[in-house]
Amino acid sequence: MKALVLFSGGVDSTTCLAEAIKKYGVREVLALSAGYGQKHTKELESARKIAHHYGVKHMELDLTPIFADSNCSLLKASDEDIPHESYADQLKKTDGKPVSTYVPFRNGLFLASAASIALSNGCSEIYYGAHSDDSAGSAYPDCSEAFNSAINTAIYLGSGKQLKVTAPFIGMNKAQVVARGLELDVPYDLTWSCYEGGDKPCGVCGTCRDRAAAFRANGINDPALEV
Ligand SMILES: [Zn+2]
Repeated sequence: MKALVLFSGGVDSTTCLAEAIKKYGVREVLALSAGYGQKHTKELESARKIAHHYGVKHMELDLTPIFADSNCSLLKASDEDIPHESYADQLKKTDGKPVSTYVPFRNGLFLASAASIALSNGCSEIYYGAHSDDSAGSAYPDCSEAFNSAINTAIYLGSGKQLKVTAPFIGMNKAQVVARGLELDVPYDLTWSCYEGGDKPCGVCGTCRDRAAAFRANGINDPALEV
């Protein structure tokens, strides 16, 4: 194995998976998904379908107990409702703190777990799909360029300089990620981003709004809404 991809089954990480497969070939890539006590399992189901689509090796990790005390609105354990408004509107009320759908240090935990698994499988790179929209304002600080650079250094040093973190979209916005994914023929109809777990995406949570806008910017409707 050459590369491990943090893979949630959403738009960004699926595009990231396609990027790694294009570079290394499907047999050299390991896709890693993690359950963390989400209110629904739709994204994990999507991840399985997409892994099957590509024929890539897929590993699932259950990190739920770590978030047992969190009140993040994405989690089953939380009584908070998922906000039905844009990130820009949410950030007006957070006083510089992350949004309520920020899972505490999730990317830090995922990347550290991924580093252990990557080393055990002989990988030299971890891919993850952070992009500039996610770190806009203070929404998701563990998607920021500064965080990415710091954890890359930590993992590189902590692995004895064997492993680096690659965030190919860190300087791109979500519309640019989708543009790249369309070039790579990513099966976006199989992806799931919505924070709610309905039969169809809700269309009004922050991530539904963001992905619909990203597809619109590329002149197409969100394929997940047309399935
Ligand atoms: Zn939604």
